[in-house]
Amino acid sequence: MTAEALETLEGVGPKLAERLQGLGIHSVPDLLFHLPLRYEDRTRLQPIGGLLPGLPAQVEGEVEHASVVRGRRPMLVVSLADGTGRITLRFFHFRGHQARQLGKGTRLRCYGEVRPGFRGLEMVHPHYARILPGQEPPLADRLTPVYPSTEGLGQQTWLRLSEQALARLDDGALALDELLPGRMLENLRLPSLPAALRLIHRPPPGENVAALLARDHPAQHRLAMEELLAHNLSMRLLRQRQRARDAIPLAPAADLEQALRDALPFELTGAQARVLEEIGSDLAATHPMLRLVHGDVGSGKTVVAALAALRAVGNGVQVAVVAPTEILAEQHLRTFSEWLGPLGVEPVWLTSKVKGKARTAALEAIAGGAGVVVGTHALMQEGVAFDRLGLVIVDEQHRFGVGQRMALMGKGDDGHVRPHQLIMTATPIPRTLAMTAYAGLEVSVIDELPKGRKPVTTAVISADRREAVVARVAEACTGGRQAYWVCTLIEESEAVEAQAAQEVADELAARLGGLRIGLVHGRLKPAEKQGVMDAFKAGDLDLLVATTVIEVGVDVPNASLMIIENAERLGLSQLHQLRGRVGRGSARSSCVLLYSSPIGEMAKQRLEIMRETQDGFRIAEKDLELRGPGEVLGTRQTGLVQFRVADLARDAHLLDRIPPVAEDLIANHPGQVRRLVRRWIGDSARFAGV
Ligand code: ADP
Ligand code: MG
Repeated sequence: MTAEALETLEGVGPKLAERLQGLGIHSVPDLLFHLPLRYEDRTRLQPIGGLLPGLPAQVEGEVEHASVVRGRRPMLVVSLADGTGRITLRFFHFRGHQARQLGKGTRLRCYGEVRPGFRGLEMVHPHYARILPGQEPPLADRLTPVYPSTEGLGQQTWLRLSEQALARLDDGALALDELLPGRMLENLRLPSLPAALRLIHRPPPGENVAALLARDHPAQHRLAMEELLAHNLSMRLLRQRQRARDAIPLAPAADLEQALRDALPFELTGAQARVLEEIGSDLAATHPMLRLVHGDVGSGKTVVAALAALRAVGNGVQVAVVAPTEILAEQHLRTFSEWLGPLGVEPVWLTSKVKGKARTAALEAIAGGAGVVVGTHALMQEGVAFDRLGLVIVDEQHRFGVGQRMALMGKGDDGHVRPHQLIMTATPIPRTLAMTAYAGLEVSVIDELPKGRKPVTTAVISADRREAVVARVAEACTGGRQAYWVCTLIEESEAVEAQAAQEVADELAARLGGLRIGLVHGRLKPAEKQGVMDAFKAGDLDLLVATTVIEVGVDVPNASLMIIENAERLGLSQLHQLRGRVGRGSARSSCVLLYSSPIGEMAKQRLEIMRETQDGFRIAEKDLELRGPGEVLGTRQTGLVQFRVADLARDAHLLDRIPPVAEDLIANHPGQVRRLVRRWIGDSARFAGV
């Protein structure tokens, strides 16, 4: 074994090695490229009286009282004071002994995000340590890195592993090749690769903390360049491979397509028709299509997908329709069934949650040549054998991580013949993003909304006036309208989010006695979720309390009022997506963005943009300007991140330099290209055949 093998690290046995491999980490150098997601500043204590909501903080104080509040689910509530103020700590998951350890007078040091609660500020599930008398632990002397992880792999493990990997780097035991061309590095005066890695994993005391936290440190720039180049290269390679393959050419299926058009209750918009033409000419070719369709929320991408699917079916090949969430996939199942069913094409349903006999039946149908298969990305994973897959449609692809996206695009690369691919997204793509994340893809834009869409009036209102908003919901619903109440929590577990939504639903139910209120969140079983959605769609519910699971694709035209709580916590694109759920029917629609005071200047400005415009493209550009592209791309921290260091807004000036270098590398140093892509994109690149 070489110094690069994971098993040579202390504490890494076959089990941990296997888990790491599952995350795409196969060697000690791979560990070094598993970079901190963020840093926690535990170098100082903040007075509780001076805390601001929305920001993380470390505080120390004494427990005033701790009690388990019994509700639908018990919750541990602790009041902590330090002489300057008090804060509430809330735990939805806790053990009995935990509650007993927190008696009055216990000293605690806590780290967590401060948020506004019903009574003053609170922290939900802070990290905390008890401090025994006379044993005050020292404060950290440097920023604490926080690594992206998955369930069961704690931060302590990551710290231990990265510590050892860094030691080997220092000993010169690892050969970390410089893969960036000298020309590129020449003028930039950036640190060497080992120095950059060391600094990012363990920022020394006194380092420019603000720059690091803002991801605007030269060491981060150094790696960002490489990462951006790797992404650009990966897309080019994918495209190149795609072009070199054969595909089954799909001729117009005039009868089927016309039959659907005739059955639709609307005419296609000019933009939909044009995009269909563009797709049609790609599909008729003998090389696989790789086309991205971008259309704002509500622009009608689904019918475009359905018509493309019909064409495929008319040519005797199979279509896979893939959505990022169960709820959206279910919605597609129903739409496709409603539209294609009468034409004799009944879609087959398959997600990872389909088990047992139903799964066997679905797999048999797929292997037997069923025309249209709808599901989540589980559909594209191993073990699902198609008879003759001719077209893959990926919806709302921005919700997929890079890894999943690459894997999806690489699917079906087992023979020389590959399926055509249609990728749909509602996230407007600023030019900079397109150059990097989608280099080499053909792009179609649906730049027109269906006729008769009513603008959604948006109001930005302080949570101090929540009472009035509740009254407004009551009034609207009593008048026959339907409404959404969206609860937002970010960077929290689904369980905490579900719990918070449950509380809001209970509270609203208590206050709005006459209304029929439903609740959806990510913790419900698919059938339960579907039951609630169906009831809402059928008009059997007046008010739907939901987490952001309803963000994408949900289509209930009669819903014309949406309340979004703590709107300041969400990215603008996400707010735009959410708001796109209303304004779909004939009624005038409105959206209320509730924010918790006090709110920062930038947060205020962002919400103002939502009030001013409904143009997704403008919103995305503004968002990019104000916050950086991680949010624009919809980076939700679901295990693995999209870009590890790159920030397209900050690094925009680098982007123009990347395409020529990428072309040069592909032409002259193909070996280097593969290593770069593997270093940054890892397993999914392998899976995609890059
Ligand atoms: P998105 O692009 O956000 O996926 P959908 O495909 O869900 O949008 O379409 C939104 C709504 O608009 C659906 O109810 C759909 O049936 C309807 N729709 C689509 N195209 C048209 C059109 N040309 N005219 C009127 N309504 C349309
Ligand atoms: Mg859609």
